[in-house]
Amino acid sequence: MSTYSDRARAILPGGVNSPVRAWNGVGGEPVPIASAHGSRITDADGREMIDLVASWGPAMLGHAHPEVVAAVQAAATRGLSFGATTEAEVELAELIRERYAPAERVRLVSTGTEATMTAIRLARAATGRDVIVKFAGCYHGHSDALLVAAGSGLATAGVPDSAGVTRGAAADTLVLPYGDEPALTDAFAEHGARIAAVITEAAPCNMGVVRPPEGFNRLISTLCRNEGAVMILDEVLTGFRAGPAGWWGVERDHDLAAGVDPWTPDLVTFGKVIGGGLPVAALGGRRDLMERLAPLGPVYQAGTLSGNPVAVAAGLATMRLLTPEVHDRVAATADALVTGVSGALAERGIAHAVGRAGTLFSIFLGLDDAPVTFEEVSRQDTAAFARMFHAVRREGVALPPSAYEAWFVSAAHTAADVDHVIATVAAWADSERT
Ligand code: PMP
Repeated sequence: MSTYSDRARAILPGGVNSPVRAWNGVGGEPVPIASAHGSRITDADGREMIDLVASWGPAMLGHAHPEVVAAVQAAATRGLSFGATTEAEVELAELIRERYAPAERVRLVSTGTEATMTAIRLARAATGRDVIVKFAGCYHGHSDALLVAAGSGLATAGVPDSAGVTRGAAADTLVLPYGDEPALTDAFAEHGARIAAVITEAAPCNMGVVRPPEGFNRLISTLCRNEGAVMILDEVLTGFRAGPAGWWGVERDHDLAAGVDPWTPDLVTFGKVIGGGLPVAALGGRRDLMERLAPLGPVYQAGTLSGNPVAVAAGLATMRLLTPEVHDRVAATADALVTGVSGALAERGIAHAVGRAGTLFSIFLGLDDAPVTFEEVSRQDTAAFARMFHAVRREGVALPPSAYEAWFVSAAHTAADVDHVIATVAAWADSERT
């Protein structure tokens, strides 16, 4: 056991400040990270690796992009926090709306958890109803009402999935299987008058990447509109990453190309990319809903560090650098990587399925078809994933330390990086056969 882990465990529960960092999904001892630049991350032992975690999403431009770092430095010299409005936060909110029209009004917060928690409070206030529908396998942060993921059957009444969440907090959360249209329609038929909101990841990325079945998001939107409920689209992970306007933008472009009117979410949550690696997240949506927030309306929400000037500087610089060309580059890298990795596995007879939503993807070992529900996802071979994780890490590739996560690429990943990742996966696949 390394000294780092001893020290960490003697002060931080599990040695970490967020559970997945403890490598529970793959086993072994994480070595602390010392620095990260571009596509590379370097641990405290001085080992440099190609990083496919990207801080779980924010590092869309690669780590420590010089222009983002310069913007942060400049902002820091002007003061770290004012607890008052700045021009930069207005500009960031405007930029979000410019690229993502359903965000008619925007409130900046510091974490995705705050954004989804506030969205739910707003939906309940606006509808005067209590019940929240969520889908098994979708993660929306760790607020009590959303820490309910378990459940089988058509519409399982929520039971707490984390100790410390009261039955009361969980009881108003209905958990449905993802992508299951009859289950959703039935839930509205049975509980429609009590449903305040349906919350869904725009494309699920927290059970590995699941491409939403054609028409599923539209069905949520239609049912919500017809039944007076609020559709909350969680783009914390996918926003400005799955495509230039998140996953919603991918579906919108598809609809427009087919001559169909796009559907729109009522509320939408962002995080990760919009902070470029510093704590910025946001809630956006229909003006009439958003203007129920304090100080205009009765729904309270606040934050000492909301719209923090240094964090906003990182987000604004990142968003400005995220041109359509940069998005195209990330998409091309994701294509090359997923095609190469999947091809290398297939050539070596390793059963796997690819989950793909825009530039986001993950590899499900041991499955033949891309899964849709959490139940299908959980049939993957997590032990094989753990072996692959450690084998490629020894060769300088940092995969996410769990089979239930997306592989994140950035604009800084080069063709040589892609080739190296493919070669290490191929070498692991060879070793599995011998
Ligand atoms: N929603 C989604 C879809 C997420 O992926 C995450 C974080 N992984 C969150 C919400 C919560 O965001 P945060 O960790 O910033 O609280």
